[in-house]
Amino acid sequence: MTDIVEHHTLFIAGQWVEPAGTETIEVVSPVTEQVVGRVPHATPADADKAVAAARAAFDHGPWPRLSLVERAEVVTRIKDAIAARHQELAELVTLQNGSPMLFSVRGQALSAVGAFEVALAAAERFSQEDERPGTGGPVLVRREPVGVVAAITPWNVPQLTIAGKLAPALLAGCTVILKPSPETPLDANWLADVCAEAGLPDGVLSVLPAGRETGAYLVAHPDVDKVAFTGSVAAGKAIMAAAAENLTRVSLELGGKSAAILLDDADLAVAVPAVVGGTCAANSGQACVALTRVLVPASRYDEVAAALTGAFAGLKVGDPADPTTVVGPMVTRQQQERNLEYIRIGREEGAKVLTGGGVPKGLSTGWYVSPTLFGDVTNDMRIAREEIFGPVVCLLRYETVDEAVALANDSAFGLSGAVFSADPDRATEVARRVRTGTITVNGFRLDLAAPFGGFKDSGIGREFGPEGLAAYFEYQAVNLPAPNPS
Ligand code: NAD
Repeated sequence: MTDIVEHHTLFIAGQWVEPAGTETIEVVSPVTEQVVGRVPHATPADADKAVAAARAAFDHGPWPRLSLVERAEVVTRIKDAIAARHQELAELVTLQNGSPMLFSVRGQALSAVGAFEVALAAAERFSQEDERPGTGGPVLVRREPVGVVAAITPWNVPQLTIAGKLAPALLAGCTVILKPSPETPLDANWLADVCAEAGLPDGVLSVLPAGRETGAYLVAHPDVDKVAFTGSVAAGKAIMAAAAENLTRVSLELGGKSAAILLDDADLAVAVPAVVGGTCAANSGQACVALTRVLVPASRYDEVAAALTGAFAGLKVGDPADPTTVVGPMVTRQQQERNLEYIRIGREEGAKVLTGGGVPKGLSTGWYVSPTLFGDVTNDMRIAREEIFGPVVCLLRYETVDEAVALANDSAFGLSGAVFSADPDRATEVARRVRTGTITVNGFRLDLAAPFGGFKDSGIGREFGPEGLAAYFEYQAVNLPAPNPS
């Protein structure tokens, strides 16, 4: 039996302190179904303490009053420490959510380092004050940190979603209360230690592992200035509605049902690995940007179906700690059941299981789902419209490029996508017509140097890149006196 990673205290305002309550969160391994971690469950009383400290640190403390360059020194130390210990971080994330190490090292740990790097690069070029000619005289346009930030994050890519909020918020001079998902509290506590060791002043960061009640309490708190959220559409809507009460700023990174459009001249040697990489091999399909609808010209349907079926069937499913495993377990039994339920729905709707379609043989312990490819899918089916969040992918036929674009856009979501063609210019033209926040030509990529976020139900606001840093500032216009006419 493995040792349990156990914490007895909460990181509030830079100190490890006794929790207000006695409830704990147990982290259960998706592989062994055994408890592997235990932390105190933060309550609203802990949230009050964290918010009061964050408010005081923002209103009176040194952090927002340091220069951006001085804050960047501390943030660089945090980034360097994560980079130096990235293997340990990847293992900790995998322990909790079952992300295959093959994905975890890059997609969980190094991607978080990347998010810090792009925020630091953006900060170097960021100007907090510019003067411009106004209509009645010169105007000094200033950028002030938005204030106390509540960062609420999911379990699937916990450190990437934290880094996309924490790095720009800290650089901007904000103070932060992080509420990680109850499935992944251990890496968040790990990060708290890293930040303290890097010299982040007291009061600037609190970490409150908890469920949605404490999250909702933070969102409604009048002393929180901004909620930066990543998670489901349902929670995003609830958060936006609650934030309206105090006009708390929100950024929402929500779900997706993204399309990979294969044009008639697509090279399958490029498209098939990209679709696999953008679905089953991306955190076992538990990725908001997953390319879960593959749109194929009718003339090439059989050829693509055969190639993808072969590729999916050949993926190694199993223990995520094995460095050759491509598809690990789902994070919880509930997520496994959700996937299996959608597989049942797909069959009932008349889609055809080309490969997979259940629990892989020999993997009855742990929450595994076979890489599953549905053929003969139409865009009105629930499996084509709703986010499944696992290794379940739909194959759809189209006749014309216009129809392919219409199908891609016929979705409540608008997060990601891909277009494949032997002619990249032709693919780029098609990409321009797809209403999503990100789209890749001949590949699958989430580029942290670019703004990332969703159209439609996929969210509001952008993270990463310079736009992700700008999201943690308010504008202030100082109207300067007009020069005396001489
Ligand atoms: P979730 O919405 O259930 O939970 C996300 C976080 O929000 C958790 O910390 C949870 O405790 C908290 N929460 C839930 N309801 C809340 C409320 N009413 N008020 C305050 N906090 C609340 O999502 P999940 O199951 O943890 O994550 C999966 C979802 O996240 C998927 O829909 C996925 O597409 C999405 N996601 C999006 C992105 C993106 O960048 N667009 C990235 C990763 C995951």
